[in-house]
Amino acid sequence: MSAPIRKLDSLTVVVPGLNEEENLAFLYAELIRVLGNQEWKLDILFVDDGSTDGTLRVCRELNVRDSRFQYVSLSRNFGHQIALTAGLDLSCGRAVVTMDADLQDPPEVVLEMIKLWEQGVDVAYGQRRTHQNIPFFKRFTAQIFYRLLRFMSDVPIPMDTGDFRLIDRRVMDQLKTMREQGRFIRGMVSWIGFEQRPVLYDRPGRHQGNTKYPLFRQIRLAWAGISAFSSWPLRMATMTGILFSLMAFVMVIYYIARKIYFDDFTKGWASIMVAIFAVGGVQMFFIGIVGEYLAKTFEELKGRPLYIVRETSGSLLPQSSSTGKVTH
Ligand code: UDP
Ligand code: MG
Repeated sequence: MSAPIRKLDSLTVVVPGLNEEENLAFLYAELIRVLGNQEWKLDILFVDDGSTDGTLRVCRELNVRDSRFQYVSLSRNFGHQIALTAGLDLSCGRAVVTMDADLQDPPEVVLEMIKLWEQGVDVAYGQRRTHQNIPFFKRFTAQIFYRLLRFMSDVPIPMDTGDFRLIDRRVMDQLKTMREQGRFIRGMVSWIGFEQRPVLYDRPGRHQGNTKYPLFRQIRLAWAGISAFSSWPLRMATMTGILFSLMAFVMVIYYIARKIYFDDFTKGWASIMVAIFAVGGVQMFFIGIVGEYLAKTFEELKGRPLYIVRETSGSLLPQSSSTGKVTH
């Protein structure tokens, strides 16, 4: 490792959470233990993503106890990526760390990220070396997804990397200008560029509670990533169309030749039905894909705010506005 070229003076840790009542106090204690008594000024910024358990109550209590713990509570559940955006918008540290509330992203790893930052790295992202206590199915689907995305994406998005990363202020300033609705933050950060480096770590299981990312939410996130960073599905439609047209052309020639030379046709009802269904199915599938992109375009066109704030802790007056529209 080379020598540090800069010193960190302030750090904001942004943690989005949905119904994380059981983890919050422990998370706070761990963050303070590892990152609290250091040479930088620490802020913890928790985003309550419309929790229905006691999360907001614990937030208020922690904030009264320690003003380094700040929170913002959204008016309903907007989803992990939007909650993360709300936290990033309000963060003010020279470097910002994003992590999950369930302690699957160990605070110790942040120290390594800070070391990299001090050497001039702009983004240090946690890359999973191993997983513990994560169901096989979830691990398997995630791994397939990361590889598929890497293959399809127009910008290289690192594999086995979630939303555990340290981001420098200059990258943050760029990220804040990107206000698209379909948000896949790890891809957006990759797209910005500058110096980005992995920090390998072993990912433990959840501290308490159940996953807030059931399969259908995972699929939604996967589609957000693919549709925002790849035109592959649309390109596939074109390629399949060309392939089928070529096949049809060859078939026409073959049948004409056969008619001329052999004239031995039996009535091919079955093959016709199969062809109709196959071609019809493929067409419907790709019309669906076109529709998906169209729906996304419509979402973006509406230009709605990304989120709405219900409540914030005292010193967190929204610097931009309470509706997630950052103006510059
Ligand atoms: N989360 C959130 N809003 C949601 C779903 C999840 O803020 O709608 C938070 C959740 O509380 C956690 C993080 O996103 O802090 C990652 O979720 P989780 O740990 O449930 O996902 P997993 O690790 O199982 O993929
Ligand atoms: Mg988790």
